[in-house]
Amino acid sequence: MNLAKHLSDTELSAKILRHAVPKMSELNIPVTPTNYAVWYEYYLGINLDLKRAIDGLITNAVSFSAEINDGLYKNYIQEKSPEVIENVQIETQIIINNLLAKVGKMTEGTVNLSETLSEFNTELKLQPDVDVLTRLVDSLVDSMEEVTQSNKEMEGSLNSMRDEVSTLKKEMENLNLVAMTDQLTSLNNRRCFEDEVLKHLHQHIQNGSPSSMLLIDIDHFKQFNDNHGHLVGDKVLAYVAMALKQTVKGSDFVARYGGEEFVILLPNTNNSQAMIVAEQVRKTISERNLTIGKGKKLSLGSITVSVGVSTLNISDDRESYFVRADEALYRAKSSGRNCICSE
Ligand code: GH3
Ligand code: MG
Ligand code: MG
Repeated sequence: MNLAKHLSDTELSAKILRHAVPKMSELNIPVTPTNYAVWYEYYLGINLDLKRAIDGLITNAVSFSAEINDGLYKNYIQEKSPEVIENVQIETQIIINNLLAKVGKMTEGTVNLSETLSEFNTELKLQPDVDVLTRLVDSLVDSMEEVTQSNKEMEGSLNSMRDEVSTLKKEMENLNLVAMTDQLTSLNNRRCFEDEVLKHLHQHIQNGSPSSMLLIDIDHFKQFNDNHGHLVGDKVLAYVAMALKQTVKGSDFVARYGGEEFVILLPNTNNSQAMIVAEQVRKTISERNLTIGKGKKLSLGSITVSVGVSTLNISDDRESYFVRADEALYRAKSSGRNCICSE
């Protein structure tokens, strides 16, 4: 992100913050990262579903209990706009500003700590991330040791500040994980896949490491939904996800690309090796008979998948690498499904 854009983002964030925080305190909503993400998005005003939901709650004087807050976060942020999570770092700044205000009231030996905090606050504004927070926590701990020696009284309040910052750090790490995970299958999601492809491209350029991609699409999946309902369809997706995970090695990367499509990245794997894995995946899934329900009464018969395989070459970018797997998948579908095709 360039600096000018980032500064204008920071100004917007500050503006939202001035509205959101007083409103949250008026409504007795704790300023946690997840709650703040909800209210940040509310004041940003783009997420209309969220806005309607909150306005409805306010109009009906419903109190913002922990369950309501969690529900808002899950339904309108986690699922619909995971990118909001990135803005949660702003909340970090609220805490640091609070710390600065408190530290400002303390005397003498705290000068170093106060300076440390100011430096980090500036740094966080420019480049807010978990690394910066980690350094902040470490540095706070160091400074605290000096300070608490000369001023025993401050120990308690500095400890709680440290806890606040490290709790926040943990929450941010959790949020990162949530933003990279597909909820239905617990596989990596598309976002995470895009990041992983970049790593493969990078390693290919740096040291020629081979990489292959399997794009996997369930055959006639719409029929499962039509015949047995969406909930059964969802179970089939979770089942295929698990079967894929079990079929490949731990170092292979499995993600849900979207809908009933999955993608696997195989590091250090050339095209003919990848075709062997693809065939294993196809065979494993088609050989099992899927039954569901109490006493496993409902038989869904066998599920089949079609697979397209591509292998990374030096002139590839993220898109071309994927497009070749997609074209191969298309050919597997036109060749009658339940089969694998290479680029
Ligand atoms: P093909 O063999 O050509 O791939 O046929 P298909 O029926 O699998 O493909 P199509 O693209 O026509 O239909 C995909 C279906 O997947 C339609 C959509 O309703 C369903 N689907 C997508 N995401 C989900 C989901 O999260 N849960 C459920 N239950 N169904 C989903
Ligand atoms: Mg499809
Ligand atoms: Mg399909």
